[in-house]
Amino acid sequence: MKYDAIVVGAGISGLLSALALSKNRKRVLIIEKGRHIGGLARSYDVEGYKVDIGPHAITALEDGPLVKLMDEYFDIVPQFIPHEKYHVRTHDKFSDFPYTLKEWMMFDILPRRDRLSLVQAITKAMALTLTDGSNLKISVHDFMSDFTLSEKTLKFIDAICPFLSGRSSKETPLWRILRGSGYVEETKLGSREQFSRFTRLARHDGAHNQCYPRGGVDAIVKSAEYSLPKNLVDIRLEEPVTSIHVEDGHVKGVGTSKDSYDSDMVVYSGYVKDLPNMVDSALPPEYVEDLKRIKQTKALSVWLGLKSKVKEFDYMGSEIWFEEGKPYWAMPTSNFDSQLAPKGKQLVGFAFVIEDDIKKERKSALDTIYNALPNIEKQVEMEHFQVAVPEKATPVIDGFIPSPKSPINGLYLVGTDTNTNSMGITRASYSVLDCLKFMREDGVL
Ligand SMILES: Cc1cc2nc3c(=O)[nH]c(=O)nc-3n(C[C@H](O)[C@H](O)[C@H](O)COP(=O)(O)OP(=O)(O)OC[C@H]3O[C@@H](n4cnc5c(N)ncnc54)[C@H](O)[C@@H]3O)c2cc1C
Repeated sequence: MKYDAIVVGAGISGLLSALALSKNRKRVLIIEKGRHIGGLARSYDVEGYKVDIGPHAITALEDGPLVKLMDEYFDIVPQFIPHEKYHVRTHDKFSDFPYTLKEWMMFDILPRRDRLSLVQAITKAMALTLTDGSNLKISVHDFMSDFTLSEKTLKFIDAICPFLSGRSSKETPLWRILRGSGYVEETKLGSREQFSRFTRLARHDGAHNQCYPRGGVDAIVKSAEYSLPKNLVDIRLEEPVTSIHVEDGHVKGVGTSKDSYDSDMVVYSGYVKDLPNMVDSALPPEYVEDLKRIKQTKALSVWLGLKSKVKEFDYMGSEIWFEEGKPYWAMPTSNFDSQLAPKGKQLVGFAFVIEDDIKKERKSALDTIYNALPNIEKQVEMEHFQVAVPEKATPVIDGFIPSPKSPINGLYLVGTDTNTNSMGITRASYSVLDCLKFMREDGVL
């Protein structure tokens, strides 16, 4: 049977694409290489605890792309619990992460003189988004070199950058920090919309529209799956797509480890950098060269199940550590939904950006955690590790982010490597909205 569209991959971007297409009366086949749908937005049980693949805060839930897609296509929506504050932990302090200029001035974890410089730097960066965008391409490190900052503050900046871009401040472009943090999205330089974002510096709470889905991050996936029109969508699991068939510059279907399937439209949500190995007709050489500039970063997540609730995690929100050892971002997910841990116990997820030697990284991650939180080690009854690539393209200086419209007619690309806005699930959702826009322009939706 010929499908109207084949979606490669059943992560959040593949599922959202399949949902939008099928709600527009297209017959869709979703092909997933893994045993489960959800990709990185999956949750599963470990010794009575329910862990996600990395701790998740879902951003832009007031007016962002996921909400647009849920409003239009979901039959049921997950329940979202406000994330509340981001915090910064040090040996002697636990402070709210600053967002507005006033909060930066009050942020007593950093020296007072540096805070003033940081406020000047943020204001300058935001002013650049209103005028000349070219300066936003410089690295955070180079941009900050105009300001006099202590070692401590530079260390803090170096800890934050990998959580927003996956890379150090030397490799992170300034625009990424602004978009990753939500200060700026969908930059139209000089636009009125941009100006209104600029005013957030005075009044905005960075986490005001961020949430965690009740039941775990796969509550979003489950709602999307439930909303798929059953008579129009088939899903095949454990079937890696190995080739994408192209004739005369137009996509014709895909081949898998088991079979081949015909369609004039393929939506691919795997790594775009792998496309040259899959497309059995030549992609433009300059495009193939561009794809080689896609960079990725790995994350190590450590999930700790605690025998009882500890005072260190008696809060809603999440925390960053940047003192000795490796920087982490941690979230006590069972505070958002007690069902994620056995009764009276607590579940906390820690995320680290890592290099390649996983064994060493595990040890230094645990050393960092128990140095930052010396009292929790004796409470730990479950330790679980995950290694994953959180976003398929790390936005770096001289990196490449492909468009959802590929050079091959009928072949569309979705996922976190095809959009520069925001992060994670929000970034994936932006890519799906963009992709749908291209399909409409092409007259296929
Ligand atoms: C530690 C960590 C922390 C995170 N924190 C957050 C957060 O706070 N907020 C947030 O929004 N996001 C967060 N994320 C990221 C977020 O989960 C992902 O960016 C998002 O789920 C990616 O969706 P995707 O559809 O683009 O890709 P994926 O989830 O990777 O889905 C792609 C799917 O395609 C399948 N596939 C690939 N190639 C093939 C093939 N050839 N044939 C068939 N199937 C194929 C894969 O198996 C996979 O299921 C985090 C991730 C990690 C690891």
